[in-house]
Amino acid sequence: MKTTFSGFRCFRCGTQQKALFDGYACPACGGNLEVRYRWPTEPADRWWIDDSRQDIFRYKALLPVSNLDLASPLRVGMSPFYTAQRLGAAVGLQRLYLKDDGQNPSASFKDRAGAVALVRAREIGATVLCGASTGNAGSSMACLAASVGMPCVIFVPEKAPAAKIAQLLIFGATVLAVKGSYDDAFDLCMHVCAQRGWFNRNTGHNPFTREGKKTAAFEMYEQLGDIPDWVAVPTGDGNIIAGVWKGFCDLKEAGIADKIPRMLCTQSEASAAISQTVWTVQQTDGNLPDWKTVDVANVSATTVADSISVDQPRDGLAAVRAVLESGGAAVTVPDSDILAAIPEMARGSGVFAEPAAACAWAGVKQAAREGILTAEETVVCLCTGNGLKDVANARKAAGEPVRVEATLEAALAATDGIG
Ligand SMILES: *Cc1c(COP(=O)(O)O)cnc(C)c1O
Ligand SMILES: [Zn+2]
Repeated sequence: MKTTFSGFRCFRCGTQQKALFDGYACPACGGNLEVRYRWPTEPADRWWIDDSRQDIFRYKALLPVSNLDLASPLRVGMSPFYTAQRLGAAVGLQRLYLKDDGQNPSASFKDRAGAVALVRAREIGATVLCGASTGNAGSSMACLAASVGMPCVIFVPEKAPAAKIAQLLIFGATVLAVKGSYDDAFDLCMHVCAQRGWFNRNTGHNPFTREGKKTAAFEMYEQLGDIPDWVAVPTGDGNIIAGVWKGFCDLKEAGIADKIPRMLCTQSEASAAISQTVWTVQQTDGNLPDWKTVDVANVSATTVADSISVDQPRDGLAAVRAVLESGGAAVTVPDSDILAAIPEMARGSGVFAEPAAACAWAGVKQAAREGILTAEETVVCLCTGNGLKDVANARKAAGEPVRVEATLEAALAATDGIG
């Protein structure tokens, strides 16, 4: 009783490829490819869970890789799932949950993608792992590469936060700090991979990144014991929101669950290509469009939330489909709300998020204000990256310590009225 990885299908034009296809994008139109499966016909109860594993590979029956001897020994996934009552109550939500993916080996959600991409790379005999990144995808690939002793080359915009560049270097990756944006780094990486024949982990372009990210949906289903009404996802390239949606779609297609949550795309106003595209499509009639005719917007991103600062979303169409086909919504927030959301989340729940991850909470608040989310709905807010990734921006919203002389009198005076 095994699922078969049966091939690929283009998100844009629907053209299919066999599982042996060794390219990345759709040969017919250049669109991103979705991994397809043949599901077991007479499945046993819990057939899709391997309880002997406490990482994403407990769902190996739903993944397109088979040789787990090639997987990183690091524990990726099975991240904590918390009820966030106080945080929810602040905006009138009775059933708010936080899923903390800052607790992955390299401290971001990207480890899910990297862990599956790593097995795929080794299964096809790749010798060098390569990718472009705003920071987290790269530091994740570098971390996982180090865990199995593979060489790794990462392209980042030179302005990536110091902690992320430090992570990359510490894990021993060759780091090319590109004098330009993430989009410049991405394009450069594509050319170098093509010329050198390296495994290209680039987000969205490599269909296996989405497959790794979908495992968060499986965990939510297990951890909640149900399908939530909404999942809020901070969005840049759109690969996380498309991946989480794909995970729920797989559960439904395979007959494991019977519904799909609405996807809430949360973005900074200063990097909102996917939201703008969603709104444009929503303004036309009520039906879903022919996806071949939808062009995802391009913007000039300036947000402080570096992990979601994207001019040209690399999995944009899949993300737009995720929002619209799930009956979801897109909201945007100003950067000031994103920075304010960092201490709010931390003080209301104990989870410290980097700016991009805090955008999910800022977006949940915005959606509650707009009446998109209602009080009794079950809402999961995805925390995609740890706050220690970008201390400089956290400090902007954190306030200042109380400076005291090193005397008991001064310390007592300064603590009067606490508790
Ligand atoms: C990459 C990333 C995102 C956005 O994911 P996309 O696939 O680019 O939409 C959000 N938060 C964090 C912390 C990330 O690293
Ligand atoms: Zn195509």
